[in-house]
Order: sequence, then C-alpha cells, then structure tokens
Amino acid sequence: MLSERTRLRMSERLRQRGICDERVLTAMSQVPRHLFVDEALASRAYDDVSLPIGHGQTISQPFTVARMTELLITGRTPGRILEIGTGCGYQSAVLLQTGAEVYSIERLGVLLEKARRNLRAARLIHARLLHGDGHAGLPETAPFDGIIMTCAASTVPALLLEQLAENGRMIMPLGEQEQHLLLLEKTKSGIRQTRLDPVKFVPLLPGRI
Ligand code: SAH
Repeated sequence: MLSERTRLRMSERLRQRGICDERVLTAMSQVPRHLFVDEALASRAYDDVSLPIGHGQTISQPFTVARMTELLITGRTPGRILEIGTGCGYQSAVLLQTGAEVYSIERLGVLLEKARRNLRAARLIHARLLHGDGHAGLPETAPFDGIIMTCAASTVPALLLEQLAENGRMIMPLGEQEQHLLLLEKTKSGIRQTRLDPVKFVPLLPGRI
C-alpha cells in the first residue's frame, strides 16, 4: 500500500489527468508522501486527496502539487525556488526531487520542525527551511527563478514579486472564499498574469509563531 508501485500508479493517474512534465511525474513517483502525514493517514497518502497535517493546516492533493510544480518548471531548469508555506515539507520534497535549489519559509515553528524531520526521513536534506513570515520573502537570497505560495493571499505580495528574477515565474492561490491559481511571469516588458484552475488553500497569515 505504501510501496513504490503505489506511487507509480499515482503518477500514472496524474499523467492521465494532464500532467506531462516527466521530471514532475518522476518526482511524484519517488517522494514517499506517506512519510509526510501522520501514521493514521498513511493508507490514504496516495489517494488524490488533501490531508490534515496538524495545527489547522493541510497538504494539497497530489494533483495540485504536481500541477503547481509543472507550472513553475516546465520548459526550463528549475533553478532557485522560494516556497512560502513549508507545512509538512512535501511540496519542498517534490521540488528537490526535480533538481531545484529549494528555500522554504514557514510561520509556524512546530510545523517547520515537523517538515525537517519528514524531509530527513525521506532522505532529502538539501532544502533550506526558514522560520519566518513569508510576506517578506528572502531578499538576501533573491532573485529566485521561481516562487511558489502554498497558502492563499487576497492580493499578490509585492515584496515577493520584486524578488523574482527576470523570466522567473511565480505561482500562487489568489482569493479568500473563492480562489484560483494565478501564474505570474516576469518579462522585460512587465508582469504577465494568467488566471488558472479554481483551488482551495489555507490563508497566508501575518507574523511567525
Ligand atoms: N506546502 C505545504 C502545504 C502547506 S499548507 C506542504 O507541502 O505540506 C500552507 C502553510 O502555509 C501552512 O503551514 C501555514 O502555516 C503556512 N503559512 C501561512 N501564512 C504564512 C506566512 N505568512 N509565511 C509563511 N508560511 C505561512
């Protein structure tokens, strides 16, 4: 139930639903999602559902993780990626597995520690995990080739957009009750915005605790 075969089947279902970047499909078939959720939920880890990760937060369904990863890296090398909302570390793990250099910020200290343990258990130790308020981004490490927010904001955080490299891409859930994915691409002539799939994410909140 928790084997590589189960993950390969999940990856095949993602392909049928339209994910086509092989690096994303391979990463999804390699990262042991069951290590990122509580043991009691492990048997559901490879179903296409979002799951609770404690402290009122959730891990997105595998399709959404794959879709956002694909939007971020398709047609390019992943490069340096900033994630806002580390949660249990699963999205970071998938990004690492595609070859990205991952920086991830989480406001809840307890969740960040959990993510560290989960990533270590999955033998993925190269993510830089930081305790802080993601609104500010990470100016000392910018620019980023990609920025991914895994919590929803009602407006695009301006400081994050500033930290995007030219030709960089940012993907985020935008909205409150009604949300959709927004893809932002920084070009020489400005920011191109594309409104995509309806989604449901936990909110981006201020401060760190
Ligand atoms: N990507 C995560 C899913 C995280 S859920 C995973 O794969 O598990 C969204 C996370 O965003 C929550 O853990 C929440 O605490 C965090 N978050 C909300 N507001 C934040 C902020 N301002 N800065 C950093 N993290 C934030």
